[in-house]
Amino acid sequence: MSKEEMYTDITTSCSGNALVSACLLGVNCRYDAGSVLNKSVFRFLEENKLNPIPVCPEQLAGFPTPRKKCEIRDGDGFDVIDGRAKVYTEDGEDVTELFLRGAEETLRIARIVKAKVAILKSFSPSCGAGKIYDGSFSGKIKEGWGVTAAMLKKAGIEVVSDLDV
Ligand code: SF4
Repeated sequence: MSKEEMYTDITTSCSGNALVSACLLGVNCRYDAGSVLNKSVFRFLEENKLNPIPVCPEQLAGFPTPRKKCEIRDGDGFDVIDGRAKVYTEDGEDVTELFLRGAEETLRIARIVKAKVAILKSFSPSCGAGKIYDGSFSGKIKEGWGVTAAMLKKAGIEVVSDLDV
């Protein structure tokens, strides 16, 4: 089934809006300008009659694509929001403010479309839902939430990991 056929299938009988990490829907918005199209996400949307609203917090923040890899050091997205942790590029640039901006713009969209749920890409410092990279740029994973995932959760929006659909 092509991407376009999947979109058509989903949008025919929707019962509500779901924010979805755009890369999971095949949008080439990742740091390496690729995507991670996930058919399970399409199936979940269809089964729950949810209309997908694709969002990429990092592009909404103003980052270019492709862009440098980033990770959260000394905590997770909740800690970033509370000022206890920061987000850095691999070469040590502090990009915390941009990550907060991307999260705020994503929350703005969530409110505009009255999204009650967000299906987000695990491991990302923005979208990570329950699991993120540990800040060492060594591929290690830790429990935690990306900055956008944390901000959506604080606003009462249910956040679902792509690993759980
Ligand atoms: Fe995907 Fe989120 Fe990363 Fe954008 S910020 S590429 S939507 S995981």
